[in-house]
Amino acid sequence: YVPTVGVVGRPNVGKSTLVNRIIGRREAVVQDIPGVTRDVVNYDGLWRGRRFTVVDSGGWEPDAQGLQKAVAAQAERAMSATDVVVLVVDASVGATSTDEAIARVLRRSKKPVILVANKVDDERAEADMAELWSLGLGEPIGVSALHGRGSGDLLDIVLDKL
Ligand code: GDP
Ligand code: MG
Repeated sequence: YVPTVGVVGRPNVGKSTLVNRIIGRREAVVQDIPGVTRDVVNYDGLWRGRRFTVVDSGGWEPDAQGLQKAVAAQAERAMSATDVVVLVVDASVGATSTDEAIARVLRRSKKPVILVANKVDDERAEADMAELWSLGLGEPIGVSALHGRGSGDLLDIVLDKL
């Protein structure tokens, strides 16, 4: 049995960048334009000798359905289909109403949820993390998916919950 880690969050927070960081390869497509990951895509990960599957999610159509509703649906799917859910938020932006909508769905989950504060590119940016406690998902884990900052610690935490 290979456990799965679902990565969810609103567009442009850095989910695909984080997935690439986690798998150590640039396979997930990263874009400046929100909503570029059209479907749910699985990738094979390996950390400290343990295999797992990482699920990068997307597929929302903000215009057709409403962003909030679409990401909430994405979160529901992640909860039912994966062993651990990673919610990514953009620490440089802070908690948006969309982040709150996703967090509300995930708080009902019986599965472990890890809150990741992405785009904490340097020590100074760590101050941005404090307000993310308000999402009610515990301690935000600060990372920079782009530069790799904190990603090893995050993987240790994820594997611990698998
Ligand atoms: P997704 O839509 O959530 O999958 O987000 P992407 O991974 O496609 O990234 C969206 C944008 O955020 C891209 O321009 C990334 O280069 C940028 N980005 C991702 N992670 C970081 C980070 O840790 N720091 C900074 N500064 N930018 C990031
Ligand atoms: Mg993406």
